[in-house]
Amino acid sequence: MTNQIQIHAYEPRPNILSKLAKLALPQQFMEKIYSYIERNIFLKLIKDKSQAIEICCPACLKAHIKKTAVEVKLPSEVSRKVFNITNGNAGHMGYYLDKDKLIKLD
Ligand SMILES: [Zn+2]
Repeated sequence: MTNQIQIHAYEPRPNILSKLAKLALPQQFMEKIYSYIERNIFLKLIKDKSQAIEICCPACLKAHIKKTAVEVKLPSEVSRKVFNITNGNAGHMGYYLDKDKLIKLD
């Protein structure tokens, strides 16, 4: 007998990404968001420990989206739509994580 956990199912990226895709955002912006997710994804085991879903912290993701929107100079009307995509806070008390780096939000 082994204690290894079998991973049977992955749910693709967070829902936030499918919402972003509908906004037809610039490729440069989307690439930065995808690469953030690749760097920060972790697996969350569900219920019976036989399945896992891929997630990243929604608050940190939202913070990175905000920062990236400024960096790539998204037009303000587009930025507004992007920021309103989720209700949660961006980051945690003014900071968010990108892999092992703590980043301050402006
Ligand atoms: Zn977070």
